[in-house]
Amino acid sequence: MSAAPGSAGGAVLSPRAEGVTPSSGARTAMLAMEGVTAAYGAVEALKGVSIHVEPGEIVTLIGANGAGKSTLLMTIFGSPRARSGRITFEGRDITGLPMHQIARAGIAQSPEGRRIFPRMSVRENLLMGAQAMGVDPAPGLEQAFTLFPRLKEREAQRGGTLSGGEQQMLAIARALMSRPRLLLLDEPSLGLAPLVVRQIFSAIRTLNAETGLTVLLVEQNANQALRLAHRGYVLVTGRITLEGTGAELLARPEIRDAYLGTH
Ligand code: ATP
Repeated sequence: MSAAPGSAGGAVLSPRAEGVTPSSGARTAMLAMEGVTAAYGAVEALKGVSIHVEPGEIVTLIGANGAGKSTLLMTIFGSPRARSGRITFEGRDITGLPMHQIARAGIAQSPEGRRIFPRMSVRENLLMGAQAMGVDPAPGLEQAFTLFPRLKEREAQRGGTLSGGEQQMLAIARALMSRPRLLLLDEPSLGLAPLVVRQIFSAIRTLNAETGLTVLLVEQNANQALRLAHRGYVLVTGRITLEGTGAELLARPEIRDAYLGTH
């Protein structure tokens, strides 16, 4: 895989210690989280997380069940709120901003579990994505149907009658309707057959390569995610423990043992 634009030649594989300062990339990053903590009551889900995502990169965050991956994505949108630390997008501090302002700044999210509207048609689901942001739906619809021809075929069908893979395509396409510069994807492979996962990941790669869309992808499917991503981070119980290029992380014995089985 080619290096991402602006990724400074790829991050060096480095174990991360608690309280470590973010690398210098954070200053020019599209997205930077610096020392972010977040909690649900007494449960501390993020314990001082620092990551950065450069323009044009696909960055993946891998980790076991309950490591805090979804929380990290949700904290970017302010729910739960960061208890400490800072989140910046294109140099602007977005920590604590209301959700709609974060979306208007250029970030969109496709949440875990897809959350499409089951009674609405595919087209109506897509239009909702544009309407919420007050943007012209035409370019988004064209992109959605080019990227996922299956959605065009099923344009008038209710969302709830689609297959799991088609629902995932719809969730991604709907997030793109707001014309974001950064797309947050939470476990797009969840519950899908391997062939469908490959289709979804291939679409993400195409989007990134052809439109320069920057992607932060949370995945339990570490193998596929690290093959797709330019860089990755490993999250273990709320702390980043390792970072590196996708290839570097795939080659690490501890990653193979913990996340890749016998691959
Ligand atoms: P999964 O892959 O299962 O979604 P994850 O890595 O995304 O896992 P999170 O869902 O972010 O992990 O959960 C991180 C921690 O926060 C876990 O200990 C989880 O039990 C806890 N947690 C998550 N959501 C809540 C909530 N709404 N209330 C209380 N605790 C929560």
